[in-house]
Amino acid sequence: MTKLLFPTPEPVTVPMRVEDAAFPVSRIFCVGRNYADHAKEMGHEVDREAPFYFTKSPAHLIHSGATVPYPPGTADFHHEMEFVVAIGAPGFRVAEADAMDLVLGYASGLDMTRRDLQGVAKDKRRPWDTGKDFENAAVIGPITRAGDFGAPGPQAISLHLNGKPVQQAHLSDMVWSVAELIAHLSTLYHLRPGDLIFTGTPAGVGPVSPGDMLHGEVEGLSPVTLTIAPAG
Ligand code: MN
Repeated sequence: MTKLLFPTPEPVTVPMRVEDAAFPVSRIFCVGRNYADHAKEMGHEVDREAPFYFTKSPAHLIHSGATVPYPPGTADFHHEMEFVVAIGAPGFRVAEADAMDLVLGYASGLDMTRRDLQGVAKDKRRPWDTGKDFENAAVIGPITRAGDFGAPGPQAISLHLNGKPVQQAHLSDMVWSVAELIAHLSTLYHLRPGDLIFTGTPAGVGPVSPGDMLHGEVEGLSPVTLTIAPAG
């Protein structure tokens, strides 16, 4: 066997809510502009032409409850509260009617964003990676089994910043439903167990500062929390 030059990283996993088990993470897909009010606040008209995606490295995923330093290279570090879909079965070119069969469960998540770097990338038609895919940029709570959650739709999704509500919507406000997203994404990738889909954020995104505390909830799921380490 070939000698490894340094130890392999620990596998990236997400705890299950009630089982003594963990979900091993393969890939992280994120959906752009999936709530009309958020698209509008970012200066875009929402379109139903097709959803679009970006990705985050699993190495950048952290668990709910973490305290993270304010990241380098930004002066506009933003929160985006999101509903996360955990894929538990393989699928390629899946029909919308069969798409929910791929879902193992759901979690609350945060798509943390260096908004200033994302803005420069948009202006210059460059990739979003440095704005979206950086250390600690994806945060996730424990996964609830799909059967224990029910069909996504009426559940409220919300984020509190230092106890004050800043993002509030319902999953039914999503432009693309979970089934539509899975069906579409499965035309681009062979979806497989371990994939996560961050399904986009409602309106109300905004900056965080050192010392801030984020508390995100989707009705029926474990919350996701994040603390930005105090300065100094
Ligand atoms: Mn997002």
